[in-house]
Amino acid sequence: MSGLARNWAGNIAYGARRFHSPASRDELTEIVGNASAARVLGSRHSFSDIADTDSDLISTQRLDRIIGIDKAAGTVTIEGGVTYGQLCPALAAEGLALANLASLPHISVAGAVSTSTHGSGDRNGTLATSVRALETATADGGIVRFSRGDADFGGAVVSLGALGAIATITLDVEPAYQVKQEVYLGLPFNELVENFDALMGSAYSVSAFLSWRGGKVDQLWRKSRAGDPVFDPARYSARPADRAYHPIAALSAEPCTEQGGRLGPWHERLAHFRMGFTPSAGDELQSEYFVPRRHAAEALLAVQAIQEDIAPHLLISEIRTMKADELWLSQAYRQDCVGIHFTWKNDWPAVSAVLPKIEAQLAPFEPRPHWGKLFMMAPEAVRERYEKLDDFRKLARRLDPAGKFTNQYIRRTILN
Ligand SMILES: Cc1cc2nc3c(=O)[nH]c(=O)nc-3n(C[C@H](O)[C@H](O)[C@H](O)COP(=O)(O)OP(=O)(O)OC[C@H]3O[C@@H](n4cnc5c(N)ncnc54)[C@H](O)[C@@H]3O)c2cc1C
Repeated sequence: MSGLARNWAGNIAYGARRFHSPASRDELTEIVGNASAARVLGSRHSFSDIADTDSDLISTQRLDRIIGIDKAAGTVTIEGGVTYGQLCPALAAEGLALANLASLPHISVAGAVSTSTHGSGDRNGTLATSVRALETATADGGIVRFSRGDADFGGAVVSLGALGAIATITLDVEPAYQVKQEVYLGLPFNELVENFDALMGSAYSVSAFLSWRGGKVDQLWRKSRAGDPVFDPARYSARPADRAYHPIAALSAEPCTEQGGRLGPWHERLAHFRMGFTPSAGDELQSEYFVPRRHAAEALLAVQAIQEDIAPHLLISEIRTMKADELWLSQAYRQDCVGIHFTWKNDWPAVSAVLPKIEAQLAPFEPRPHWGKLFMMAPEAVRERYEKLDDFRKLARRLDPAGKFTNQYIRRTILN
């Protein structure tokens, strides 16, 4: 189990006394039932201590079966450790697709939806909004099923691992579609701020990458589906990229999905990075804050005001949008959002000094931090942003009265 000792970024050493790697639902329920305290580990891509425990850490890496596709119902059901990298080609081979993807396919679906991981796009909710049903192995050694429409469904999906171990997930699928990806360089920052809705809504999924230097958006990535409105770059002062780019421009674009505007399968364009390669930089930390979409321009200007504090420690920032949803602990709960993301150099002393400055700048817009990334906000400030938190706590107490799935992160951030 030495490969499970740390998270992907290496900044968290898990404190678990015991590691488990169940290969079936029965093994999973048995381990959960017998443990006095436990956390579940997906593909280890969170930067925070959200998955950590000093007791039993249950890896889902062997729960990797695609259980079934139901074309009539428009669903796929998978085990709790399946990654998007495993799922997407299998769906594509059946002529099916998911609505959206995060920047990388390496992450497990259950881990992604548990933290409301997201891609971008005005029409797209976070990845958690594709969940139609879940089966969760609960503290008592049983299984509880939640389906969309159930009273507690809104609490069960983005659960931060606090309700139990997700044994299976059923996701919405749709007919496969094609996507083209185009990159534009050098858009003036002011043009992004002044035309935020037009630019971010100009394709199915749009990302703006900034280094907070030079008054520009370093790269604008547009992922379009057939039927999207035609984009007129002449309206803006950006130029089409002359070659493929990594979001961190100094790095090789080889790990990136195809750019250049050629249509291709959805799963070969919607994520930024390809399986089989290290996504992003590898040696890095990440933070992200979500503010209501209506404050996007003001929030970007507030961050720009401290860009000199940010830029020296940054590899790249990414701006994305998400549609509002009904999932209680989703950062997009009942609000269309903009995500302001930071990929940092791997230097925690420097990052931990700059995060409070960013949080102070964003405070007027009531930011919600990404559950799986690094933040320094006072827990009370985080908690007051979630109006359904008490309902989530009640659900957690009902399913897990002794707090078996409570770790330090959950205690600090959600419960106290
Ligand atoms: C290079 C990189 C790029 C990223 N890009 C994006 C991005 O584009 N968008 C974005 O929003 N985020 C992004 N992230 C963050 C990442 O998507 C989240 O941290 C996500 O939670 C990782 O999923 P995981 O499977 O690795 O989960 P882990 O980090 O292993 O676990 C996360 C949480 O999920 C819980 N969990 C996992 N599996 C289960 C299960 N079966 N049952 C119950 N609970 C479970 C864990 O207990 C923990 O609380 C990125 C991270 C990296 C390293």
